[in-house]
Amino acid sequence: MPELPEVEAYRRRIEQGACHRTIAAVERGDDTSHVDLPGPKDRARLDGHQFTKARRHGKLLFAGSASGPWVALHMGMAGSVRVYDADDGTPDYARLIVTFEGDRRMAFRDPRKFGWVKVIDDPDAEIASHELGPDVLEVDAETFADRLGSGHGAVKSALTDQARLAGMGNLWADETLYQVGIHPAAKVCDLSADDIRALYRTARRILSAVCDADADYAALPVAWLIHHREAGAACTRCDGTITSRKIGGRTSFFCPEHQPKPS
Ligand SMILES: [Zn+2]
Repeated sequence: MPELPEVEAYRRRIEQGACHRTIAAVERGDDTSHVDLPGPKDRARLDGHQFTKARRHGKLLFAGSASGPWVALHMGMAGSVRVYDADDGTPDYARLIVTFEGDRRMAFRDPRKFGWVKVIDDPDAEIASHELGPDVLEVDAETFADRLGSGHGAVKSALTDQARLAGMGNLWADETLYQVGIHPAAKVCDLSADDIRALYRTARRILSAVCDADADYAALPVAWLIHHREAGAACTRCDGTITSRKIGGRTSFFCPEHQPKPS
């Protein structure tokens, strides 16, 4: 599921390849049943406008301009954004296609159909309507600790709760906990101030590094959990073995040796 760094990579694609080009048409792609997409009137609102800015908040992506409407995109389970030229052909699973004057195109791809696209006027209002917390890369250490709170819930659930901090999902929360050495089921109220500071620093370092790599996982350090994310794999930090367990409804991968079970 695309999280903050993956969505940031799509944002950059839009900024670098799809901004400052006049929109000629916005059309539905293939097999759009059960995909939440803007209707003909909303799509027509974009005609003649340009995207001058691409924004991201947590996992939400926006493209628009000061004077025109915006598109808001959510990637769902497996959505992505492709910017391409007409000669390259329409990518698979393109559910919405923006045609710019000339050859440039932008597609919202969504093989699993859990994502959505809307035409909106105000990204801030859209963010507020989803009751999202602040973007996890935009907060200072104090705000991070405040938003995480001191509840009895599992730290993994708190880190992935978009209402507390927007942006982190299953993959990068597991990576953060693995690198800090905290069990995903540890209760937030049992964490020390040092633990929370370490989570803050590590989450930022990881998310920034994945953004810098344009979410190309092959470019990430080999010792990271992402390359060993299967039950039975050897831990890269100790003699332990990676295991998996459902926590808060999501499968968590961790090393029970250096991420010991909370007492
Ligand atoms: Zn370990």
